[in-house]
Amino acid sequence: MHAPGFSLEVFPPRRNGPVRTIYDTLDGLEGLSPDFISVTYGHGSQADRSATARIASTIAHEYHIPVVAHLTSLYADEASVDETLTAFDEAGVNAILALRGDPVESHTPTGVFPHASDLAAYIHRRRPDMTLVGACYPEGHADSPSLEEDVSNLAIKVSAGVSQLITQLFYDNEDFYRFMDVCAAHGITVPICAGIMPIISEKSVRSMASRGGSHIPPKVEALLDRWGDAPDCLRSAGIVYASEQIADLIANGVAGIHLYTMNRPSTTRRIWRNVSGLFASD
Ligand code: FAD
Repeated sequence: MHAPGFSLEVFPPRRNGPVRTIYDTLDGLEGLSPDFISVTYGHGSQADRSATARIASTIAHEYHIPVVAHLTSLYADEASVDETLTAFDEAGVNAILALRGDPVESHTPTGVFPHASDLAAYIHRRRPDMTLVGACYPEGHADSPSLEEDVSNLAIKVSAGVSQLITQLFYDNEDFYRFMDVCAAHGITVPICAGIMPIISEKSVRSMASRGGSHIPPKVEALLDRWGDAPDCLRSAGIVYASEQIADLIANGVAGIHLYTMNRPSTTRRIWRNVSGLFASD
């Protein structure tokens, strides 16, 4: 059997935040040898849109790790995407996670790329050499009336040139396995990497789950009930939980694991220590 892939996500430091923090994160991840590190893209009013390319450049040129740059479409037009592609080229990026992004209050979308698939199709036309990655949702995207409908839209994204998918966080592997079956029924055969978000705090679990439309299963509720007021214990329990999720996913043939580091390398390292032996091919 093929060895599963292993990748990480980081986000740029806040606007006006110390640049040093990204070095702390990347230094803290040293030795993990991921297949790639992906860098998120912010399009809110506080966002520094050039930050993704800057951090991507640091990862590619200073840490020599392949990088996937996220890019959102809702507030983009052809000129801004062309400009970003040039910045990504200079940064050494050859793979893009093409996203729609979420609406931001008081900002009017351009309407040029209403869906991630529109952005993917545009980049694929302009730059067929660029690897395109897409987002997907094991429990269905919040805007979709059903998982079936969301996955049939996902098939459009794949036809637009996306050759790999990364999931939204999920806490129940059964949701992922059900989603894989629906994808197979829609003829989606590209690798689907499972996005795993470690439990850091009760607040972050609840806000991430509600933003991402993920349900919190009873096993996670039990951890929150027991250690919601004991952050160190909850983090330890979360590391065990994420490690067990990963072992089960690998046992069931997952194409890859994408760990949301939340720029907390110590948590990522503790999970890696538990599961690193599972990434070898048989
Ligand atoms: P889409 O694929 O466009 O889907 C959005 C909705 O539209 C879905 O309901 C879908 O079914 C529907 N749809 C899609 N195509 C069609 C079509 N052709 N016709 C009709 N309906 C359609 N956000 C950020 O701002 N920055 C980031 O860096 C970022 N990184 C992310 C990384 C991952 C792995 C994930 C899972 C999400 C990330 N997000 C990020 C959040 C993401 O932008 C939101 O979840 C957003 O709501 C949807 O983005 P999308 O690319 O999945 O959109």
